[in-house]
Amino acid sequence: MISKKMEALGVKKSVIREIFEYAKKRKAEIGNENVFDYSIGNPSVPSPADVKEALLTLLMETDSVSLHGYTSAQGDLSVRTAIADYLNQTYEAGASPDYIYLTVGAAAALTISMSAILDDDKTEEIIAFAPFFPEYKVFAEKAGAKLVTVPCTEPDFQIDWQAFEHALNENTKAVIVNSPNNPTGVVLSEETIFHLSASLRRAEERFGHPIYLIADEPYRELVYGDVKVPYLTRYYDDTIVCYSFSKSLSIPGERIGYILVSPKMEHAKSVYAAVLGAGRALGFVCAPALFQFMIPHCLGKTADLSIYNQNRELLYEALTAYGFTCANPDGAFYLFMKTPEPDAYAFCEKAKKYELLLVPSDDFGFPGYVRIAYCVTTEQIKRSLPAFEALAKEYHLI
Ligand code: PLP
Repeated sequence: MISKKMEALGVKKSVIREIFEYAKKRKAEIGNENVFDYSIGNPSVPSPADVKEALLTLLMETDSVSLHGYTSAQGDLSVRTAIADYLNQTYEAGASPDYIYLTVGAAAALTISMSAILDDDKTEEIIAFAPFFPEYKVFAEKAGAKLVTVPCTEPDFQIDWQAFEHALNENTKAVIVNSPNNPTGVVLSEETIFHLSASLRRAEERFGHPIYLIADEPYRELVYGDVKVPYLTRYYDDTIVCYSFSKSLSIPGERIGYILVSPKMEHAKSVYAAVLGAGRALGFVCAPALFQFMIPHCLGKTADLSIYNQNRELLYEALTAYGFTCANPDGAFYLFMKTPEPDAYAFCEKAKKYELLLVPSDDFGFPGYVRIAYCVTTEQIKRSLPAFEALAKEYHLI
């Protein structure tokens, strides 16, 4: 027999993927330019030139045996050293190459980290703040934990402290934060991070064991204006950072990221050993070598964020002018818009009439909203504005 659980995961497509597939079908029927597909978080801005240059140089100048060979399971030491140096120079992160593990993107970083810290005794819990990236539930359950969700406050989408304190208990093993956030675009303020760290330290003392803070950071560099994203190892010692180059360098298909176990945590050596063990058990050893070796050449580089910023301003200003309400979109490339009727699915069906393809928020654990991924061309946004306006009129918002 097969695993019924895995079969169910394989059969049930994510709602995002379903809309994405519908968009493809619809585009074939009525033409690309007539479908306003806001479904998926695939970066739309080309990679910075540094990516191509680094890859070409590596391919031309490095012997292919060492370029394409296995690296250490945790990633090449020179690459881990470059990452640690960059993090220390940029954020005073207290990072060390001996506590970095290269992964195939943030997804693997998350599954490895969760497997490393969970005992698989089915009583352990991981807290996520809703709305959250839907895969957290899949990853946490596979690692043997229950995902407990704590809704954020509206309209600022910061942490609801009362609900958070209520959710913490002796089974809490970790808390995931994702800032800038998918799907809201909200960045957690430094004040929120101070508060969260203090609350977690108190809980660790109360329950007598570490509670890890997992920082899921694929959008770290995607922030607009002068907004700062606090680096969590500076605030809380029991931090594990899960980073990805997917969005910052527009290379999601290449699958490269890393885990940083904060060397400041007690038993950091054991936690890192557990990361090595989990990577091994899950078959995630030696992340793609070519893309590992690209990293030192591209640290701190990003795709042209001014295009996302232009899209964000254009769409946010238009939608709010039409009477819609959106979370404050300081980062990532998503707008989280409140639906004028409580059923987000019904709203999305009405939007479809205008060829607007939006994602209902239910799978993000926070009904009554839609996610609008504005990592599309600015032309698409401009062309879609009359459709949003007509939708607003249908709901008598204007
Ligand atoms: N975490 C969040 C919040 C994401 O939005 C994504 C991808 O969209 C991931 C993790 C997975 O990222 P990666 O492509 O690096 O595996």
